Amino acid sequence: MKVPFLDLKAAHREVDAELDSAFRRVKESGRYVLGPELEAFEGEFAAYCQARHCVGVSNGLDALHLILRAMNIGEHDEVIVPAHTFIATWLAVSYAGARPVPVEPDPRTYNIDPKRIEEAITPRSRAIIVVHLYGQPADMDPINSIAARYGLKVIEDAAQAHGALYNGRRVGGLGDAAAFSFYPGKNLGALGDGGAVVTNDPEFAKKVAFLRNYGFRTKYFSGIRGFNARLDEVQAAFLRVKLLKLDHWNTHRERIAEFYLMRLSEGSCFLPFVPEWVDPVWHLFVIRVPRREEFQEYLRRSGIETLIHYPVPPHLADAYADAKWKRGDFPITESICREVLSLPIGPHMSEGAVDHVTDSIWEFFHDV
Ligand SMILES: *Cc1c(COP(=O)(O)O)cnc(C)c1O
Repeated sequence: MKVPFLDLKAAHREVDAELDSAFRRVKESGRYVLGPELEAFEGEFAAYCQARHCVGVSNGLDALHLILRAMNIGEHDEVIVPAHTFIATWLAVSYAGARPVPVEPDPRTYNIDPKRIEEAITPRSRAIIVVHLYGQPADMDPINSIAARYGLKVIEDAAQAHGALYNGRRVGGLGDAAAFSFYPGKNLGALGDGGAVVTNDPEFAKKVAFLRNYGFRTKYFSGIRGFNARLDEVQAAFLRVKLLKLDHWNTHRERIAEFYLMRLSEGSCFLPFVPEWVDPVWHLFVIRVPRREEFQEYLRRSGIETLIHYPVPPHLADAYADAKWKRGDFPITESICREVLSLPIGPHMSEGAVDHVTDSIWEFFHDV
């Protein structure tokens, strides 16, 4: 039995006719950039996130970058980031000209540890970027109160958490602004690249909308130096179709996660921990195993595709070699990166496939 990590084609087969008609609608409209599909999607996605505004942009990295620009964060500024995250979180800070200041995660939830944030704050700190990693919201209440005490902005990197709940509230409206990615493999994915900035502040939303389109306040009149970071009509139309399925697909992911949690035992591997105040959307199902390479190879031979999120922490990536961080600087992050493995999970994974994965894992640990 073959178990792919994620089956994107199955999702698109489920909404085949709707995607085709969305494509035809855009093709025949003659409007391909900044048109009615984008406007409609922005309204629908803001409502989904229980937030007031959404600005569609080109991808998740640009969403983070434009948020930082709109906050006037740049040279000589510092931004607190999780040490353990996808490198895009850090790259956005560098792209804006500011300096990422890493903070270690809570080893149980993998999210930034609120207890370690204060010691990273300096007079240059301007913002905290939290990442709702693997689809599980970070602990926002203590983070927001630290930010309020020090006058810092709070930015959510929600690229892995479309629809996740923190104390019953959707991610996207829990800080000053949030960045989403619609990369095809995310919980809500386009058929190409896409992203969004979500916020409750109307002035901030307006500024991001200017920045994504050359800083134009009206056509050809640039009020601020902007970028080209737009979300096009065809992707917006596809996203509108898939947004209607998001809750249903997230529920299926949750069911798969429940099967895994029920059938895998803590004895052999370290399982995800879910605090009672969050409802994660299981973008990834991440376990920790000491003999990871051998374990991954065993699963591969059983036809099971797994991935590692992430093999190299950002502070040890060659991209940040000039910043002079060294092995041992962030030991919690480094040990996580040595041991994590993501099992297959997705809105179209069958119960039979979960059985095959859990049986294979049992065999590996019992040398059958
Ligand atoms: C995917 C992702 C991004 C970047 O999104 P792109 O659309 O690929 O630019 C940023 N942060 C996190 C946590 C991500 O998972």
